[in-house]
Amino acid sequence: MTTSIPYLAGLTRFDIERDRNNHYLYPILPEDPGKAHAFVNITGRRPVEEDYLTAPAEYRQALCGAKLKVILPTRFIPADPSACRTCRDIAVERLATRQAPELTRPFQIPANL
Ligand SMILES: [Zn+2]
Repeated sequence: MTTSIPYLAGLTRFDIERDRNNHYLYPILPEDPGKAHAFVNITGRRPVEEDYLTAPAEYRQALCGAKLKVILPTRFIPADPSACRTCRDIAVERLATRQAPELTRPFQIPANL
């Protein structure tokens, strides 16, 4: 049985590369991507390609509280070995208890954490 997972995967960093022709700097996927974190997919759609968030105002907050600077065009897969364990635990628990409102708005860290 497949369960729909309303979380996308994101990374906390990207690398910067310089274009050889126009010398512009642009973000690329990091050589060492680290853990994949989960965040609430408020659009309901999956992005078609990586989305690089280059300004602090754009950063997304993962379930574990990490600042995400790359949105991957993939769902967060709790069973993935590279999945952040804290995000995994929170995602699995929320899905198990079906906290529907939590799935449709951005996650906020409770003040008492
Ligand atoms: Zn995480």
